[in-house]
Amino acid sequence: MHILFSPVWPPNLTAMRIRSGKIIFSAVGREKNCAKCKEYWPADNEFYHTNPSRSDGLQDWCKACYAEWQRNKRLKVKEQSTCVH
Ligand SMILES: [Zn+2]
Repeated sequence: MHILFSPVWPPNLTAMRIRSGKIIFSAVGREKNCAKCKEYWPADNEFYHTNPSRSDGLQDWCKACYAEWQRNKRLKVKEQSTCVH
């Protein structure tokens, strides 16, 4: 069963994030700006990995950007391992 997690933010953090353009309130609800692709995605664990150490409980990058980054990282490791010294 998939449980949708949407972190509860204190009002001052929400206000601060709205001012900085980090989150917006749209027709679908609260959306968070991805630091990598600069797109707005719903601020829940459907689109962002959770991270309790972050002030808003979510990663700065959306899941798609993380998947992309990890794929690139794996490719890099592969390239390095094929390099013969
Ligand atoms: Zn992204």
